[in-house]
Amino acid sequence: MERTFAIIKPDAVERKLAGKILDRIEANGFNIVGMKKIKLTKAQAEGFYYVHKERPFFNDLCAFMSRSPVIVLCLEKENAIADWRTLMGATNPANAEPGTIRKDFAVNIEENSSHGSDAPETAAFEIPYFFSALELV
Ligand code: UDP
Repeated sequence: MERTFAIIKPDAVERKLAGKILDRIEANGFNIVGMKKIKLTKAQAEGFYYVHKERPFFNDLCAFMSRSPVIVLCLEKENAIADWRTLMGATNPANAEPGTIRKDFAVNIEENSSHGSDAPETAAFEIPYFFSALELV
């Protein structure tokens, strides 16, 4: 079994799409081992996305991620990291496969409804950024 970290981003929570996204998560065999609704500060978003701090979209991205609540999740299944990224689809919804979360729900390349860890090392940073061991069941 593998664990990954996921976010239902502000654009999706604002449009009341959280239930639809959670349904897809469970229908695709993921166990939700951690979940909470939180509102990030700008500084917390910057800490989470520190790997992107030199990118031109960094400031806008952190403003977006802290403008309204998100749902953070720890998901578990075999091959969870790759399978969650497949279910999300490409970063830019214009390039995402039909049936993916980003194709169906994203607004644009920034407001793309969901986040997923891209590698085991990333998941190992991201899961404890948001969850203590006691919050994972
Ligand atoms: N992003 C953006 N503009 C870009 C590329 C990315 O606003 O040109 C945002 C988008 O919300 C994306 C996040 O930055 O999900 C992180 O980018 P990354 O390339 O890591 O994409 P992901 O792993 O989320 O698919």
